[in-house]
Amino acid sequence: MAYLTLKNINKIYPNGYHAVHNFNLEIEKGEFVVFVGPSGCGKSTTLRMIAGLEDISNGEFLINGVRANEMGPREREVAMVFQSYALYPQMTVYDNIAFGLTLQGVDEEIIEKRVQKTAKILGLTDYLDRLPRALSGGQRQRVAIGRAIIRKVGIFLMDEPLSNLDAKQRVTMRYEIAQIHQETGATTIYVTHDQTEAMTLADRIVVMKDGYVQQIGTPYELYHKPANVFVAGFIGEPPMNFVRDVVKNGCIAMGDNTLDLRPKYADIGKYEGKEIVFGFRPEAVRLGEVAGACVVNCRVELTEMLGDNTNVYITAGDRQAILKVDSHDTPDMDADITFSIPMEDVYLFDAQTENVIV
Ligand code: ADP
Repeated sequence: MAYLTLKNINKIYPNGYHAVHNFNLEIEKGEFVVFVGPSGCGKSTTLRMIAGLEDISNGEFLINGVRANEMGPREREVAMVFQSYALYPQMTVYDNIAFGLTLQGVDEEIIEKRVQKTAKILGLTDYLDRLPRALSGGQRQRVAIGRAIIRKVGIFLMDEPLSNLDAKQRVTMRYEIAQIHQETGATTIYVTHDQTEAMTLADRIVVMKDGYVQQIGTPYELYHKPANVFVAGFIGEPPMNFVRDVVKNGCIAMGDNTLDLRPKYADIGKYEGKEIVFGFRPEAVRLGEVAGACVVNCRVELTEMLGDNTNVYITAGDRQAILKVDSHDTPDMDADITFSIPMEDVYLFDAQTENVIV
């Protein structure tokens, strides 16, 4: 197991593109860290710099406190699983998993033991004699993971390992990856654009956008205390609703409704005459009028029944929002309804900086 330090890491590609800006992070021994953000935000570039597959343009990367910028991938003792889990098609599952150890000239008996143990962890014991083409996508991905974990390295890197699987397989593999992490205890960095994967797997999440780290925190912290509009909108499904409006007399408007911000933020006067961003999560609303909350009259445009709950798409004047309600309370299409947003579930952001105010 290893601990990692990234100090002011930057990546400027030879064509001059600055893909990663001042990335700072300490990763503890055994920690499971997820880099998440939209496509092109610099997640893979950062992971590849950690793996030693890409030069670090400036900044310092340390493994167990020792500078590793100049170390080759082997010296770093990392194992990596990619999105395309290229297995050797002519080799059996056994040989694919054993490959790295065979190359190293490890004793046959030891290889046999380690392959059996790895196969057991991954539920592949019955498939060891098969060729990759006789496996499902999920099983192939497990072989790719097996090939990586058998090496018993201290750092395990995964780049979108589940993106070639269907929705059901992804859920199963997510669970298995969490279990493998518990069993191996390896320090793990996992890259994904999927916030659900990030939330379910991570000890800590690094949210990135346009090459910049937006926030680092536990899934709980990112959900409950987002640092800015981007994180608030990225974490959570359906995403947080935002209402941008100019503050008048401590209030903003949502259609014909007046939302009084004074109970939430005593210093709202500072924003008088200025634009502010009001945020609330779809699942935070209560149907009907609740005393002391922000009350909104609106029209139901569309409902999506999901089983336990229903997504309700509403409009209030020219504003739109999504509410998530208990499916027993699903309103009729085109109905006029009232909902309330408890004050403790209101987020306010500065419209200029987009940073959270309260
Ligand atoms: P992500 O993994 O978040 O999707 P990447 O790290 O792959 O993003 O890419 C970050 C940015 O760097 C993208 O805009 C991408 O086009 C750019 N990029 C990636 N590789 C190169 C390269 N070899 N040369 C120039 N730009 C690159």
